[in-house]
Amino acid sequence: MDDKDHRAIANRMDLFHQQEEGPGMVFWHPRGFTLYRIVEDYIRREMRRGGFREVRSPQLLSRALWERSGHWEKFRDNMFTLEDADQVLALKPMSCPGHVQIFKKRLRSFRDLPLRFCEFGACHRDEPSGAVKGLVRTRAFVQDDAHVFCRDDQIEAEVARFSGRLHAVYADFGFDDVRVAFSTRPRQRVGSDALWDRAEAALEAAALAAGLDYRRDPGEGAFYGPKLDFFLRDRSGRELQCGTVQLDYVLPERLDAHYVDAENRKVRPVMIHHAILGSLERFIGVLLEHHQGNLPLWLAPEQIAVASIGAAQAGYAERVAAALEEEGYRAVADTRPERLSRKVVDAREAGIPLLMAVGKREEAEGSVTLRRRDGRQEVMAIEEAVVKLRAEAFR
Ligand SMILES: [Zn+2]
Repeated sequence: MDDKDHRAIANRMDLFHQQEEGPGMVFWHPRGFTLYRIVEDYIRREMRRGGFREVRSPQLLSRALWERSGHWEKFRDNMFTLEDADQVLALKPMSCPGHVQIFKKRLRSFRDLPLRFCEFGACHRDEPSGAVKGLVRTRAFVQDDAHVFCRDDQIEAEVARFSGRLHAVYADFGFDDVRVAFSTRPRQRVGSDALWDRAEAALEAAALAAGLDYRRDPGEGAFYGPKLDFFLRDRSGRELQCGTVQLDYVLPERLDAHYVDAENRKVRPVMIHHAILGSLERFIGVLLEHHQGNLPLWLAPEQIAVASIGAAQAGYAERVAAALEEEGYRAVADTRPERLSRKVVDAREAGIPLLMAVGKREEAEGSVTLRRRDGRQEVMAIEEAVVKLRAEAFR
């Protein structure tokens, strides 16, 4: 494994590990799970701003429901099942059918639409053991899954809202090169050709209205609908599919979802599936390789190491770290009896972007010597550092 591989980077930074007893699964370590939660919280805020409300649907659902949704027929090979008393249950490979149940539980009027649900859905998919690889392909992962239930006349606005925010979101994570692909009906699919014609035409019209510059990927759609996939180009030039928006007339029909229109008639909603990151696990793998572990300050699980220069400054280093924590920064004190140069190297290894060196002079002045990854350094009062770093440290 080369040292540019996210598994090697994660090992150096102590983020997660995998072992045979959990094939294709991840054991997140404290630093790794801190990163995980930062990413999750960022997306949670983004979804809330987009008008989504967070839900949670069951991990296990009966075979009968998966048969109705079409997953049993088209996705069965990727599903883990277990026997309950008199039925078969399957671990969810995606959250869509669960969200349809929430939609259906109340009578929905045309005035209620669009209705937007999102879930950090813990999914399991039975990938062959040869296919699993680090975080890139796992058998258990969390999707930033979201579904909009809406009317046909609302599709364009929903696609525009989603794609309009994506570039800004990806830029926050350090990705500036985003490509879009329009994926049409695959060979393995559910739903009539008439429904597919309608869905493809509506999604393409929405993509054009949103001004997206896309290429065509014939046959790459989801089994229930066409989609727009968003690919990020990473620093080594690879294209990685992360975001997706999918138009679906099939699931609402198969699972019998409806709303009532102004004349009190039952109408099928269209369902738009979308994800910004896709699998959080996979996205974090992509992120680590793209930045080679040198994450932007706001994403670093530990942002600042406060390193004492002499044994006498241990107490001051602890106080500075505590003051930073109080202000919301993720800071650790390094008071080991080591030379400063050692502490600088160790902080870099651990992926900590900032180091504050504190010696006799800094303690007397109430200041710190702030040192960045590229070696730049400046002396400033602790209060000044707290204010100055804020914009960079939080999103
Ligand atoms: Zn979905």
